Parts: sequence; structure tokens; C-alpha cells
Amino acid sequence: FAKAQGRNQYQFFMPALNRRVSKRLQLENALRQALVRNEFRLVYQPQYYLERGLLSGSEALLRWHSALLGPVGPADFIPLAEETGLMGPIGDWVLQHACEQGAQWLAQGIAMPVAVNVSACQFLPDLPAKVAAALNVSGFEARLLVIEVTESALMQDIGRTAQLLRQLKALGVEVALDDFGTGHSSLAYLKRFALDKLKIDRSFISGLPEDADDTAIIKAMLDMARHLGLKVVAEGIETVQQQDYLASLGCEAGQGYLYAKPLAARQMTARLAAAAMYERVPA
Ligand code: C2E
Ligand code: MG
Ligand code: MG
Ligand code: MG
Repeated sequence: FAKAQGRNQYQFFMPALNRRVSKRLQLENALRQALVRNEFRLVYQPQYYLERGLLSGSEALLRWHSALLGPVGPADFIPLAEETGLMGPIGDWVLQHACEQGAQWLAQGIAMPVAVNVSACQFLPDLPAKVAAALNVSGFEARLLVIEVTESALMQDIGRTAQLLRQLKALGVEVALDDFGTGHSSLAYLKRFALDKLKIDRSFISGLPEDADDTAIIKAMLDMARHLGLKVVAEGIETVQQQDYLASLGCEAGQGYLYAKPLAARQMTARLAAAAMYERVPA
């Protein structure tokens, strides 16, 4: 009887499990091919100074269009890439291509800061050398490159993190703490780490200016950033009200759908040519 019941459960359970496992396998196999098949590209989301409305920089975001599966979002493939060890080579590609695009803008007379996301599994002792190599090969300027890391990357190994951040700083690049407020970093470490910038997570922006908790949290974050001498970028600004409220609190810069969704490089270039520029390279 037990055996019969067990078999029933087994039969009941299998199809759903099968579907999930085979979907993941499919995704993993496609991801293994993605680099050699040249299926990745970078899009760029502009960032703006809230006060003056000038462009302050951009963030490079990875896109994957699989020949087998169609478009797959970062939320679906980046965690898988991290689990399967594929994020290393994919991350190298991102770093290299973002620097090449930045160098191309420089060659057109546009000194456009470009931020690159780095996974926790890339935040290792070989990262400074990889960053240096990408800058060298591309000819992009270190002062225009921003490395975005998350709190979980920083908190992996505190001693090593402090050293890695010093090495990145020595190269002349900026380091930004991404998704600030969502992780588990201790505020005490923020002071110890050589960070340049906080990116306040979208989840604290969406309730502004009405939500009393969000406004209290945002005020505290901006206050703290000011005291620690950190620049601030607010993520996910979608309304003029959010923009104006953040500007009134002294938040320096922001990005979000209010201004633009992430853009293909050539769209970004067109926008750069049309808009008031961050900075012209002296001729
Ligand atoms: P993130 O680094 O925090 O990037 C911001 C995300 O918010 C992007 O999603 C962007 O498209 C989205 N976003 C920007 N403005 C708004 C807005 O106003 N409203 C809303 N609802 N969303 C907005 P995306 O491109 O899907 O990327 C998701 C995450 O995937 C990124 O979050 C980042 O953690 C990761 N990611 C993307 N590209 C890379 C990469 O090259 N390397 C690594 N390691 N991670 C990446
Ligand atoms: Mg980011
Ligand atoms: Mg973020
Ligand atoms: Mg995020």
C-alpha cells in the first residue's frame, strides 16, 4: 500500500519538477553558448544631476537575446550565471565592452562616466588587474569608470574588501555601493571602506514623497552620505514629484524611467549630441 501511494506521489510530483529542472538546464546550456555566439549587448541608462538637469553619467546594463530562448532578463540569467561559474567570463566581457564604449565616446569628445555592475563572485583579488587591463586595452580613462558593487559583495570578506577597494581607488576609478539599503552591511563598515558613492535602492524611492517611512529613511540616508562625504545617486525615479522632492533634500543625482529607460549605445550617443553635456573634452 505504502509503495503504491509512494508511486502515486512520485507520478504526481514528477511533471512539475521535470519542467522546472529542464527549463533551468535549457537556460544553462543556452547561457554557456551565449558568449561565443555573441548574444550579449550592453544598454546604457543616463543619470542626471537633479538640480541642474545636466547629464552626470551612465550605467551599463547587460542584455541577452538568446537565439534559442529569445530575450532573457538579467534577473533570470545573472543569478544562474553566478551559480554556474559563468559570471566570471561574462563579467570580463561586460567590463571590456563598457570601457570600449566609453573610449569611443571619449574619441567623439564626450567625457561620459560609465558605471559597470560587478557581481559578488567577481569581487576577488584579480579584479583590480582586470580593470586595469580593460582600461589599458580600450584607452578609456580611469576617472570616468565607476565600479558598482553590492553590499553582499563587500561583506564577503571584510579584510579583503578593504584592500580591494584601496587597489581600485589607486587605479583612479570610482566605487559605488549599489542597491544601498537592501543588503546587510553594517553602517560602521561604510566609514571604513573607501567608497565614493551610494546608489539608493529603488524600493526607497517609489513611495516618495507621500510615504512617511520612506521619507524618513531617505532623509537619514542623505544625511549620512553627506557626513561621510559620499556622492549619491537615487535609483528608479519615475515621477517629477519624486525628482523634485529628492532635489529639495539635496540629493545630487538620479536615474530612472522619468528620464530614460536603458538605451542602445547609438541612442545614447544621439541623446549626448542633443543634450547639455556633462563635460566636453578640451580640444
Ligand atoms: P541595478 O544595477 O540596480 O540596475 C538598475 C535596474 O533598475 C536596471 O534593471 C534598470 O533597468 C532598472 N531601472 C532603472 N530605472 C528604473 C525605473 O525608473 N523603474 C524601474 N522599475 N526600474 C528601473 P535591469 O537592467 O533589468 O538589471 C537588473 C539588475 O541586474 C541590475 O540592478 C544588476 O544588479 C543586474 N545587472 C544588470 N547588468 C549587469 C551586469 O553587467 N553585471 C552584473 N553583475 N549585474 C548586472
Ligand atoms: Mg547597478
Ligand atoms: Mg541598483
Ligand atoms: Mg537593483
